[in-house]
This record gives sequence, structure tokens and C-alpha cells, in this order.
Amino acid sequence: MRWASPEQLAAGSGGEPGQGLTTMGIAHLRDPHCVVLLNDSVTDWTPYEFCLVIEHEFGHLKGLPHAASGVMAPVDAHSPDCEAAFGPAPEDAPVTAPVS
Ligand SMILES: [Zn+2]
Repeated sequence: MRWASPEQLAAGSGGEPGQGLTTMGIAHLRDPHCVVLLNDSVTDWTPYEFCLVIEHEFGHLKGLPHAASGVMAPVDAHSPDCEAAFGPAPEDAPVTAPVS
């Protein structure tokens, strides 16, 4: 895992996230280097958010594509595993867009 600026994330993911969205991290499908980049401009990660983004990006490293819902959703992903570990997702959590 490495920290990256929003500009580096945009360059690595093919563009800026949609309006009102924040790219929290990126990883490429089956990246042989196993690199996950996390947004270094986000300073208020909650344990749940950090778990969610890491689980999502590691899913891409494993070869999982985006899905309509669940942890691999590109926007408003949800992780029962992270809720079990860190408690319910905050209701006021910002709209996030972990993208590959
Ligand atoms: Zn993704």
C-alpha cells in the first residue's frame, strides 16, 4: 500500500471521480506488483472506511471486478466484514468511490 495524491489517483484510474465523489483508493485487476494506492488527502479515515477501501482494492488485486452492490460496488460500497469488525458504517459517511 502506498499513499497517493488525488491527482495521482486520477491519472492511475483514468480520470476524475464524478462530482461530489472522492476516489479513496485504486488497484488494478490482478496487478502482479500488488500495489494499492490510497488517497493521501483524506485525513479523517474511520476504521470502517479504511477496512472497506482495503477490502475493495484487495478484491481487485485478486481479480474481482466491480459489482452492483456489496464491497465491490464502485460507489457506496458496503462491507459486512468491516461492519462486523468495526461496527456499523457511519450514516453520515461521505460518498466515496473506490475505483480500479
Ligand atoms: Zn474498484
